[in-house]
Amino acid sequence: MTERIFNFSAGPAVLPVPVLEEAQRDMLSLPGVGMSVMEISHRSKTFDAIIGHAEAGLRELLKVPDNYHILFLQGGASLQFSMVPMNFLPADGSADYVLTGSWGKKALKEAKKVGAVSVAATMADGGFTRVPSRDEMSLNPHAAYVHITSNETIEGVQWKREPNVGDVPMVADMSSDILSRAIDVSKYALIYAGAQKNMGPSGVTVVILRDDLLQRIPENLATMLDYKVHVDNKSLYNTPNTWGIYILSLVCKWLQGNGGLGAMERENEKKARLLYEAIDATDFYRGHADVDCRSTMNVTFRLPAEELEKKFVAESTAQGLDGLKGHRSVGGIRASIYNAFPRAGVEALVSFMKDFERRNG
Ligand code: PMP
Repeated sequence: MTERIFNFSAGPAVLPVPVLEEAQRDMLSLPGVGMSVMEISHRSKTFDAIIGHAEAGLRELLKVPDNYHILFLQGGASLQFSMVPMNFLPADGSADYVLTGSWGKKALKEAKKVGAVSVAATMADGGFTRVPSRDEMSLNPHAAYVHITSNETIEGVQWKREPNVGDVPMVADMSSDILSRAIDVSKYALIYAGAQKNMGPSGVTVVILRDDLLQRIPENLATMLDYKVHVDNKSLYNTPNTWGIYILSLVCKWLQGNGGLGAMERENEKKARLLYEAIDATDFYRGHADVDCRSTMNVTFRLPAEELEKKFVAESTAQGLDGLKGHRSVGGIRASIYNAFPRAGVEALVSFMKDFERRNG
């Protein structure tokens, strides 16, 4: 099969076609190099330029201030669930976690193994349909940090604006919405994100952290788990995911050539609106998240019965709309429409939804 279908997968997810084409074109030999990116030393001049482009691209797109480091690590966002508390949760301190979905819960579980944590708010009772208001969060002004998940990929719940947590360092898991919109990096102490949704393939994790935090890191952490080691070695303490960083650099170039994050944000909002309007237009479809915090990246909804959801998935898949089955933990339908997902795919899904309802409603 050479024709591409519409890929609604939550991650690894659809990548921009021009990125895939460039990678394909240069697969056997990077221009002037005679070798592929996967066959060269991570300490070569060529790779040095590639990782430099990746970092510069992220810095420009996200307007990352100079006092922040950008790291390209491995172990996924899941390893960050452990690294964050290992580096920044001292034995005599406590960290606040705000739970708006399944990934925040996982982050909390790992932090508990490291030290004292407190749930500043959890939206679990309502089935994770929204983010808490300021009044619903009991934030400890002396917390070592407060952890949020900017976009809960499974439930489709997104912070539209970051919460105000006062002077406490804010740590955010942005795995599923980084680069989807402009953000103010200076509001965060640390941002982490697996690349496999909006930035590239799996196997590379971006960490953006403020320099002053490095002083808090305890002595004698395992080398690979110590952010300072990675900062001091510019993400090259060991062999990084060279291929992943290369693709990420191409994705940044693609974003820059398409107007940057402002343009991306507008397009993402348009795409999401098309889908949410289709959901809201009828009682047949029921959106999972509350209107004011529904995600522009992962659109989650239910049908009147599980049997119908199964049928919906089977029939949409047969029509080339792939990956619409909701996460196994919550069921329902999830349409992940990251940056690289084309608007035509959203339009195709909307017309499928209308047709499906006509036949089954
Ligand atoms: N956090 C969020 C918000 C995610 O969506 C995911 C992956 N879907 C993870 C963490 C875990 O990421 P990884 O598989 O890279 O460890």
